[in-house]
Amino acid sequence: SDTAPRAGAPKVIAIANQKGGVGKTTTAINLATALAAIGKRVIVLDLDPQGNASTGLGVPRTERKATSYDVLVNERPIEEALVDTAVPGLGIIPSDVDLSGAELELSAAPRRSYRLRHAVDKFRRFLGARATHCDYILIDCPPSLNLLTVNAMTAADSVLVPLQCEFFALEGLSQLMRTVDLVRGNLNKSLTIQGVVLTMYDRRNNLSSQVAADVRAHFGDRVYETVIPRNVRVSEAPSFGKPVLLYDLACPGSQAYVRLARELVRQERRPAEAVPA
Ligand code: ADP
Ligand code: MG
Repeated sequence: SDTAPRAGAPKVIAIANQKGGVGKTTTAINLATALAAIGKRVIVLDLDPQGNASTGLGVPRTERKATSYDVLVNERPIEEALVDTAVPGLGIIPSDVDLSGAELELSAAPRRSYRLRHAVDKFRRFLGARATHCDYILIDCPPSLNLLTVNAMTAADSVLVPLQCEFFALEGLSQLMRTVDLVRGNLNKSLTIQGVVLTMYDRRNNLSSQVAADVRAHFGDRVYETVIPRNVRVSEAPSFGKPVLLYDLACPGSQAYVRLARELVRQERRPAEAVPA
């Protein structure tokens, strides 16, 4: 059925927060790179029409033949849209501006919330038939709780929420959690919260540590121990079409994403628990 738990790899994680500029794309690119660096096979699925994850991973617009739009709207198989990146073990399904029309184009489509879910299920069968594997698909969601994000959550096993360490960090989060609940209630009953990751943390700024404390008080152990620091190298890397780990492996931002990847993999080894939103 549509809500039967899915066995086997890849684990699909939707990186979501309807606020823009909180570090979704940065986390998709660099967590994926760090997971690949510790030996996992990873795919980033760019589901934002802005295509920043695609650019940041070095796929120029002219090289985006098949995109996430084709997967969603034209039922193009994921394996046909997949392109390699400079990172061994990391592939990307790029996006382009076409994707901004997908919501309208799918508005009358039957089962429009399940488009991506079906594509991922087919991809799992493709991998199984080829006896090849993939460990993680990280979906970079747009800054909105629209049909694209609902498709991501319906296809996903879990949701990873980046929160920027700023005054309004928690604002809008109840709306996000309500959406997770709605998807779980109606479209994907096994959806869980993977975790909350604090981004752009500035330890010289009292506000950052206060926000971090508030978020931990609210979300408890669902907040990753690893905090991503504000680091100029992280923001410079995309303009070179590189994840920060390839741009400057030693910088604090790279090191934090490696720790986050390790923490996420450790978390996978814990027995599954039903986590309420
Ligand atoms: P979103 O995808 O949620 O809109 P982005 O990942 O694009 O957010 O990040 C927004 C901006 O903040 C980008 O310019 C990005 O380079 C910058 N940024 C993200 N994380 C960091 C960080 N840890 N240190 C410095 N700049 C960051
Ligand atoms: Mg983004």
